[in-house]
Amino acid sequence: MKNYLKFAILLFGISLILTSCEKDTPFTNEKLTNDFVEYEITEEDILKIRELEFNPFALRLISQKNRYGINEKYYIIEEDIMISYNQVDEMISSKKTNKQQNSKSKHYHSNNIVNNIQTLTVRGVNQGNGALTNAQQTALSGAIQKYNELNIGLDFVLTFGAEDNSLDINAIQVVGPAGGRADFPFNGNPGPIARIFTGTNGSNANVLRHIWIHELGHTLGLRHTDWFSLQSCGLNQSEGINSTQEPNANGANHIPGTPTGYDVTSVMLACFNNSVLGKFNSRDIIALEYLYSLPQGASLICGTTSETYTLDNDGSSVTWQTPSYLNILSSNNTSITVQPNSSNINGPGYVRAITSSGTVQKEFWIGKRYVDWVNFSNGIGEDGYFCSSNNGNEYVISPKIKGNTYQYRLLSFPSLSVLYTSTTTSSNSGTINYTPSPGWYVFEARITNACGTSDWIGWEVEYVDCTNGGGGHGDQGEG
Ligand SMILES: [Zn+2]
Repeated sequence: MKNYLKFAILLFGISLILTSCEKDTPFTNEKLTNDFVEYEITEEDILKIRELEFNPFALRLISQKNRYGINEKYYIIEEDIMISYNQVDEMISSKKTNKQQNSKSKHYHSNNIVNNIQTLTVRGVNQGNGALTNAQQTALSGAIQKYNELNIGLDFVLTFGAEDNSLDINAIQVVGPAGGRADFPFNGNPGPIARIFTGTNGSNANVLRHIWIHELGHTLGLRHTDWFSLQSCGLNQSEGINSTQEPNANGANHIPGTPTGYDVTSVMLACFNNSVLGKFNSRDIIALEYLYSLPQGASLICGTTSETYTLDNDGSSVTWQTPSYLNILSSNNTSITVQPNSSNINGPGYVRAITSSGTVQKEFWIGKRYVDWVNFSNGIGEDGYFCSSNNGNEYVISPKIKGNTYQYRLLSFPSLSVLYTSTTTSSNSGTINYTPSPGWYVFEARITNACGTSDWIGWEVEYVDCTNGGGGHGDQGEG
C-alpha cells in the first residue's frame, strides 16, 4: 500500500521501468543486504494475475531471498501484495479444481485464506536487519489489539524479538517509500512476512497502525477493496481490465454485506492518505467475520424451540459444549442443534466449539429479556433522583438491544398504586412525562423481545423539590 501522493510519483517510475525495457536498478530494496532483481513483465504474467482476479496494473516480478535464504521469484501485485511465482501457478490450478467442485465461494478460494479457528503468533522484529522503530512497534501492538477485538475465529499473540521462521508472521521494516507490503496466505497458513517501509518514519501513529492493519489483512487473505479501480490511488483502471474478465470479475466472490463499489473508509483500500484513522470500518469487520466466522445461528431462542448453529472449521474434529440447560439434539464437526430443556429459561446461552487448534463460541439469549438496570437523572444535572420542580427527569433502561421495545410506569410508595404508565417505545431512554409531588415513588420498567414481555422490575426513587438545589435519593441499580 502506498501514500497516495508519493504513489503517483512511483507509478510514473514504474511505467518507465515497464516501457523502457532496461534492466534497471530496482527502485526499492527489500533489504539492503538482499539480492533483489527485477524482471520484465510479460503478457503471460498479466494474464495469470488477471486469472486470479487481481488488478495487473503496476504488476512487478522480482527475485529475492525467501525466508529460507533461497532465491525465489515473486509477483508484487497492486503494489503491496507479494505472492511467489510458483504459488500463483498453484493458485490458478486449485482455482480451476475448486470451480469443478463448485466449492463454497468466499472472497478468495479456500487455498488463499487462513485455516479458521487458531491462534496466530506475530513477531515484531526489534533487532538486527529489519528491526522496527519504537513507533512502528507501538503501532503493531495497536493493530494486533484491533484484530483481537474482532469476534472472529482467529486470535493473535504478539511477541518481539529477532526474525526467524518459528512463528506464523514476522513484521519487519524494509527500505521503501511510505507504505508497506505483505505476503498472501497459502495452504491455510498466513503470509509469513508483513513489511512496513522506512518511508513511514515520521508518519503519525494512526497512519502506522493503518499500515499494519492493512498488511496483516493481506497476510490473512484480504484483498484491496478497490482492486478493480485503484481509485484510492487517484486512478481508474477498471474499464480496460474488466472488459476481458469473467462475468463476475468486478467484485468477484464478493463478501455478502459489503459494498461492491468504492468504500472510501475501508482499511483495505490500495492507497492511503495521512488522515486515516488506523481502524477497521464496519464493512472491513463484516468481511473478516465472514472469512473467519464464529459459529453462526440465531441470536435469540424462544421457549423450547430447537436451533442449529453451523461452524466453518476446515474439517477438523470438534467437541461441542453448551450450558446444562441446553440439550444437544445432534452435532457433528460443522453444526450443532440445541434446545432449551425448559420453556422457563431466560438468560444467556452459548454453543462452544473446541478443536485441536482453538476454541470459538457463539453467544445468544434464551427467552424473554429482563431489565438489568435503570439510570435516573433530573433537570438540574444530577443522577439518582428526580425533581418535582423541574422538567427534564430522564431515565435509561439497560440493556439496550436493537429490536426490543421498552415501557415504564410510576407507582406510589408504599401503596404501590400505578400513577402513570408510558407507551411502549423502541427507545430505551427518554424524559418522564409525569411529575408528581415531592416524596418517594417506585419506577418500574419492562422489556419486550421476540419471545415476549418481561415482568416489571422496580426501583425506589425520590422526587425532590429542586428549587433550592437537590439532595434527593434513590436506590437505582440495586434491583
Ligand atoms: Zn495492500
